[in-house]
Amino acid sequence: MIQKIKGTMDILPAEAALFRHIERVMREEAERYGYGEIRTPMFENTELFVRGVGEGTDVVQKEMYTWADRDENRSISLRPEGTASVVRALLEHGKFSDTLPQKYYYIGSFFRHEAPQAGRSREFFQFGTEMFGSAAPAADATAIALAASVLRRLGLRQVSLHLNSIGCPACRPAYRRALVDYYSAHEQTLCDTCKSRLQKNPLRLLDCKNPACHALAAGAPKTTDYLCEDCRTHFASLQTMLDGMGVAYTLDPGIVRGLDYYTRTVFEFIAEGIAAQSTVCGGGRYDGLVGSLGGPEVPAVGFGMGITRVILALRQEGIPDPEIPRPRLYIAALGAAAQARAAAETEALRRAGIYAECDTMGRSLKAQMKYADKLGARYVLMLGDSELESGRANLRDMQNSGQKEIELSQLAQALGEEN
Ligand code: ATP
Ligand code: MG
Repeated sequence: MIQKIKGTMDILPAEAALFRHIERVMREEAERYGYGEIRTPMFENTELFVRGVGEGTDVVQKEMYTWADRDENRSISLRPEGTASVVRALLEHGKFSDTLPQKYYYIGSFFRHEAPQAGRSREFFQFGTEMFGSAAPAADATAIALAASVLRRLGLRQVSLHLNSIGCPACRPAYRRALVDYYSAHEQTLCDTCKSRLQKNPLRLLDCKNPACHALAAGAPKTTDYLCEDCRTHFASLQTMLDGMGVAYTLDPGIVRGLDYYTRTVFEFIAEGIAAQSTVCGGGRYDGLVGSLGGPEVPAVGFGMGITRVILALRQEGIPDPEIPRPRLYIAALGAAAQARAAAETEALRRAGIYAECDTMGRSLKAQMKYADKLGARYVLMLGDSELESGRANLRDMQNSGQKEIELSQLAQALGEEN
């Protein structure tokens, strides 16, 4: 038997209904906040991600699915994240010369070669948003409020917003030096990855999950102590705005985000009570990205929300799954003529927009009744020769065991009235 690839998942109808429910909330909220959907290819030139995500990141160095294209001498990768592709698409369509701000969202699959575990897979599903054109804290606040709103509408109450600012190219160098000094003094304690990150990408050390590194992070210099005047003002205004909008947050100097292109605001929504993979959503501001991909200097802010992580959080909080649709009516039939009539009535109801079922297995009446019960049909109608002759049949309400005789020609109306 051929099996699915490690780190991928099959989503069967009951779980697909949950995905659809979550995705519907995401779409509706995004559109309420003025975001329009964008769909970009699942694969792109590798170079886009190398430049857009950052050469030195784990995503690019260890996690990308990359191959040589068959008919042209070029390297292609499955998308590991969404932002670089969105920027590429907007540049390609000349969108940055249109009126700003512009707001986009996407929902789709992303691919990273990681160690699969709960909440971490190799194909994963993300809802992401990007807002381009505004350097003001109001843009950060809008992105954050949208993420908070999606989580709230899904019923999550124990997911909290952790907020930080990591400064800009003006103030980052001083912070970086302080960080290198601090960690150099503890170099023996660091994990091997962090030892090698120390000079290349010291911010990432704050984010290391190794227990020894994690313990050191608590005493590390804080980005917020090194912010330049502009970054400090931006961060303070953002907090004032979030307060005014009723979006609760915790200041957390440990939030740095894994990707290279972040500037100033970074944030994560973290589910309490989940040990690992508790970051449901991560995002921030990336003012340098559009320029670094060959576009104009357009500031941007956005986030990515992992759909399977949202599901873990929903389960953790004991939030029930959405109801799966049940048939309004099951028509049980005995005999060839009744079966043909059942098929015709079922089709007519379906055309009228009603979920109806009848037997397609040639089962006994008893087995049909059992199946109707398993499907959770609200009403059951029994058809035999005498019902066909009289044109009348008993409509049974499975919810309260009530019964009522109806005209077969009035079936759709009868179902509509009975609630
Ligand atoms: P982590 O630190 O958990 O690896 P990340 O910083 O790599 O996350 P981002 O690239 O910012 O994550 O992606 C945004 C969100 O997408 C994450 O917060 C998470 O919810 C989800 N996500 C990222 N990688 C995976 C994965 N391999 N499987 C499932 N969800 C993922
Ligand atoms: Mg990761």
